Amino acid sequence: MNARPKKSFGQHFLHEKRYIERIVSSISPRDGDVVVEIGPGEGALTLPLLAAAKRMTAIELDTDLIPGLRERAAAVGELTVIHADVLKVDFTQLARDLGVEKLRIAGNLPYYISSPILFHCVDHAAAIADMHFMLQKEVVDRMAAEPGSKVYGRLSVMLQLACKVIPLFNVPPGAFRPPPKVDSAVVRLVPLTPDQLPKGDPAKIHAVVKAAFAMRRKTLSNTLKGLIDEATIRSLDIDPRARAETLSPGDFVRLAQTLASAG
Ligand code: SAM
Repeated sequence: MNARPKKSFGQHFLHEKRYIERIVSSISPRDGDVVVEIGPGEGALTLPLLAAAKRMTAIELDTDLIPGLRERAAAVGELTVIHADVLKVDFTQLARDLGVEKLRIAGNLPYYISSPILFHCVDHAAAIADMHFMLQKEVVDRMAAEPGSKVYGRLSVMLQLACKVIPLFNVPPGAFRPPPKVDSAVVRLVPLTPDQLPKGDPAKIHAVVKAAFAMRRKTLSNTLKGLIDEATIRSLDIDPRARAETLSPGDFVRLAQTLASAG
């Protein structure tokens, strides 16, 4: 234990027991659940999760941490450690390899790549039952933000179109070694079922959301110029003079559908 945390890997090890217990009880793993942890580090979450799930998989990029982790886990349950960058792990294939339809994903994420990890998981949402992540509180606020809020943006829309976003509780810097500069929060994400998912091409939805939020202060008629004309925007009962931050996730889907029908 007590390896020197590496800044380049975003290492902030959780040491406060009550937060570890709260995360584990939020996940409530049961014997037979197929839990995959991203960034197990020294095992603060891995060991209690493993004790409950009996068998689990963890993905760690830092080779130096893996032998110690394996050693500590041996007495608790069956841990498979995959040495890899989580962004290169195909969760859909992993679920297949593990012989299940859906994985339960958890992790105190390395903050330097938290958004890419979120989008990577969303890409594999059909193979995921739920996700529990520790993130910067500011990121959780953005993920859960509603239209009209100052922090509502691309992350809010794209995640809410793929998952139910449920913020659980905040965690102060002092709970980690070393303490991060920001407050943290734990969030639960539950992928939407096929009938709840938006109808439309995800790439087109993404293109509209990206363009609409590229310049927050500009109106839709400006930001969507070249993509969707004013008359089309108006035909959806959306004001072309409105700004992206006032639109619901469903509005973006409707806008993207016009793009699809226009070819
Ligand atoms: N789970 C441990 C805890 O709560 O104490 C460690 C959390 S620490 C914030 C993030 C962990 O993710 C570190 O162990 C780090 O080495 C690992 N990590 C960083 N980048 C990664 C990547 N691209 N893929 C997989 N793991 C990564």
